[in-house]
Amino acid sequence: MTWLDRQSFLGAKSDARLDAATVGLVGLGGGNSHVAQQLAHVGIGGFVLLDDDIITLTNLNRLVGGTRDDVKAERPKVEIAGRVIRAVNPNARIVLRQAKWQEAGELLRGCDIIVGGLDHIGSKDELEAFCRRFMIPYIDMGMDVTLLHESGESLVSGQVILSTPGEPCLRCLQLVTDERLKAEAQRYGAAGSRPQVVWPNGALASTAVGLVVQLITPWMHDPPRSAYFAYDANLGTITPSDRLARRLGRPCPHYPAKTVGDPMFDVRRYLERIERLPPSEPAAQPRPQPVASRWSIRAVAAWLRKMAWF
Ligand SMILES: [Zn+2]
Repeated sequence: MTWLDRQSFLGAKSDARLDAATVGLVGLGGGNSHVAQQLAHVGIGGFVLLDDDIITLTNLNRLVGGTRDDVKAERPKVEIAGRVIRAVNPNARIVLRQAKWQEAGELLRGCDIIVGGLDHIGSKDELEAFCRRFMIPYIDMGMDVTLLHESGESLVSGQVILSTPGEPCLRCLQLVTDERLKAEAQRYGAAGSRPQVVWPNGALASTAVGLVVQLITPWMHDPPRSAYFAYDANLGTITPSDRLARRLGRPCPHYPAKTVGDPMFDVRRYLERIERLPPSEPAAQPRPQPVASRWSIRAVAAWLRKMAWF
């Protein structure tokens, strides 16, 4: 008997597949703190955790695993997530860094799936571009609170999107638009913190974890390569969005197939990583030589003489 026996319905060797997988979590705030916890319970073996922030008092209303002691200690959010994961699965392979993800791209490139818990549309756009370049499935989560001025009621909503190369992207699905990017740039620094609560984050995170599991295990025989789930917390519904249905079957003009891959790919570095070979000496780079040493004055003169020009 193993600790994962109750999820054997996920299919043959699903435990081993989950253990072999590495999931990158970018932004360890409210949404991804749930995702980290659930992925640990489901048996994901590898984690890359990136967030440059520390926990503060106002995070306690939603940051799973965060405590008042953590607030006092000004603990980085990545350390709290790492602690939660390790408490469930001490054998998990955890790489964590208190940094902006843009400063740790090398760590993310080895991930099988990346889940983004980012607030800003511009950041989502950048992270998706990174994932498309390196052919990594990207799952985006986002939550919004909209105040209806007529009634004074607040609408709580959100979305979970699975974006994979060749399928509709966040721009195709109108989550990222030039208007929203412009509005965000104008607001940047002026607006206070966005409203956030724990339970919508939990609903969105559970939906995201379901997508991770269906990508890794044979639970679903033909899992969709893209998804857009719209969440309405007021109605209590999570439904597939029409925006995806309208785009399916149409090529994404924003990320053409020729823009994928690593232009700096070095097969020797790849083999070192896969076969755990000792690092090789850096290849000797041919030094640029001054023209005079390649074509000495004497050689040029001899050549000109030979050509009977002298
Ligand atoms: Zn697109």
